[in-house]
Amino acid sequence: MELKYNSKNAWGTLNRDEVEGFSENYKLFISKAKTEREAVTFLQKEAEALGFVNLFNDNNASLSKFYAVNDNKNILLLKEGNSSVEEGINFVFAHLDSPRIDVKQNPLYEGFDLAMFKTHYYGGIKKYQWVTTPLALHGVVIRKDGTKLELEIGEELNDPVFVISDLLPHLARKQMEQNAKELITAEALDPIVGSIPVPDEKEKERFKAYILELLNSKYGIVEEDLLSSELTFLPAGNARDVGFDRSAILAYGHDDRICGYTGARAIFDIQKGQKTSVVLLLDKEEIGSDGKTGAQSDFLEYALERYLAKKGVKKSDREILYKSSAISADVNAAADPLYKDAFEEQNAAIFGRGIVVTKVTGSGGKYGASDASAELVFALRKLLNENKVPWQMAELGKVDVGGGGTVAKFMAMRGIETIDAGPALLSMHAPMEIASKADLYSSYLTYKFFLDQFNF
Ligand code: MN
Ligand code: MN
Repeated sequence: MELKYNSKNAWGTLNRDEVEGFSENYKLFISKAKTEREAVTFLQKEAEALGFVNLFNDNNASLSKFYAVNDNKNILLLKEGNSSVEEGINFVFAHLDSPRIDVKQNPLYEGFDLAMFKTHYYGGIKKYQWVTTPLALHGVVIRKDGTKLELEIGEELNDPVFVISDLLPHLARKQMEQNAKELITAEALDPIVGSIPVPDEKEKERFKAYILELLNSKYGIVEEDLLSSELTFLPAGNARDVGFDRSAILAYGHDDRICGYTGARAIFDIQKGQKTSVVLLLDKEEIGSDGKTGAQSDFLEYALERYLAKKGVKKSDREILYKSSAISADVNAAADPLYKDAFEEQNAAIFGRGIVVTKVTGSGGKYGASDASAELVFALRKLLNENKVPWQMAELGKVDVGGGGTVAKFMAMRGIETIDAGPALLSMHAPMEIASKADLYSSYLTYKFFLDQFNF
């Protein structure tokens, strides 16, 4: 009998070909779907190709696989299981939004013969990481006539990119004495968008005017159209393998589209679970889960109500939620040998040791925590051990060093038995984050077995 507990590195047990194959598909997704809108479009297409039908369309009540989209920013995927939905649902929740540099509604200005865009960063970033790195521009603009322009500039090799400048070291004596929080201010996160003037020397803002002319001739937009836009600057380029052994993936937005993708893949790949399976991918997690598309909205209840009505189920959505279980699928922090001080080794997530299960989230004194019961932890422990899925248990960092939350608490308060589980990242919230391929695949396996078999 094993008396001591130690988590094990996942590479020893996983099938490397399976890990590699899965990672290649993930890299296509994470390189292509960089905003919540793009991720929803990507996954909706896949769902449709696999026979999922729109939950909000009538006349498909006899079918068993549905999707529902909320404002292009949430997607819910539902697959019926062997037992009736009245027995409860197995959920996987994740979020599709990631930290980034959003464009302000009236962004364009010029100074010292440079045209710039004003921005307002989104989510918890270390601002100094976002300067002097190539940025792409993604998003939508609604023109005066109501037509929608979808923009993606900076991803093709021949595309231009955008970049936020930084002060040269020669003149940065004062800047270098600032603490990191003040080193780069929010108002100094404005990328360069041009530097050619219009020929007319009587024009007051010649560089701004040139960009407006260009935007008009190329995209048919005028400055007022930017008021009705959602544009964002994010790291340009594709995901890359890391290391001589290609064991990890460097990409923008692993947090939390790595869980969005593995969750969606899991529901696509199961045949028919014991219970009804639902994967719900949310927005606005990085800024508090508020608003119509965040986890605090009642899109879940609305979609469920529509489903129950379609199927003629008399039970209330509330009764069903109280019988349901969920994995709140979000990333954790992998212990970093360069920053040992931030981690308490015995309860830290280790890169490559499989999916990280977290009983308690929150920060110092468990403030703001969602706390999964010991009974729920046991049920997940049993499921993962029986199916030989590499997993580990961890808290995020040392107590009182910091902390963080997920959507778990917003799902738990609905009566759903909720536990956090996701892969651990290095450099979370940096422009490019690092994930282990072994942890990616372990997360997929976890969500798949959970949706397929979990019974609590
Ligand atoms: Mn997250
Ligand atoms: Mn995050």
